[in-house]
Amino acid sequence: KRQAFIAGNWKMHKTTGEAVALASGLVDNLRGVNHKIMIAPPFTALQAVSEVVKGSNILLGAQNMASVREGAHTGEVSVLMLKDLGVSVVILGHSERRLIYGESDKLINEKVKLALEEGLEVILCVGETLEQREAGKENAVVEEQLRAGLAGITEEQLRNITIAYEPVWAIGTGKTASPQDADNMHAHIRKVVAELYSQTAADSLIIQYGGSVKPSNVKDLMAMENIDGALVGGASLSVENFVPIVTFDK
Ligand code: 13P
Repeated sequence: KRQAFIAGNWKMHKTTGEAVALASGLVDNLRGVNHKIMIAPPFTALQAVSEVVKGSNILLGAQNMASVREGAHTGEVSVLMLKDLGVSVVILGHSERRLIYGESDKLINEKVKLALEEGLEVILCVGETLEQREAGKENAVVEEQLRAGLAGITEEQLRNITIAYEPVWAIGTGKTASPQDADNMHAHIRKVVAELYSQTAADSLIIQYGGSVKPSNVKDLMAMENIDGALVGGASLSVENFVPIVTFDK
């Protein structure tokens, strides 16, 4: 069985003081837990949270990064800046980046390549909108996002990529995909990766589910064959909710 990987995406929440308080609570309460754990605070809190998680079993993640190393890119944050702060994982292609900020598959692919070249791990997010699902296009949409997002990535590099399946209609809505629907998509993702790389690569790929994951539904999701982890938004914002999600099997 693949190692469980539970990640918290704090999105645009938490001032530095609030972020430090939450991270400290998580360090205290998740000590000794064997699953892979990551938290992604906003950029402004990365430095402070980095100090808090240093030496713990919690990895520091970022929610986005620029597609180029450095230069005249007002308002952007570079991979080198993230590494400098102790970031080891970066979330790329989140649906909020795609849909609110117009990030294309091509741009996301450039970011994925740069992050891997610089030694970061990547969580690459994919997922269909409600409209696409209602039109029966969910498999095709996710397949296209995968093929484009992984273009030019070698099988060796793929080991540093986690895929997060986040159906847009389940994000922040309280509507979770059923464990079976999520598992079906995860199986489809594994099939696409087997075609692009190999069955071995597909079998070892970690695929997270994201979209209204909570303490009450995490266990049923994680029980599915192809669901290896969770990318958690709202419920990652408190110790009370995130700790039972991370320790779903306790
Ligand atoms: P919610 O858990 O708030 O639905 O957000 C999911 C998500 O987008 C994580 O990246």
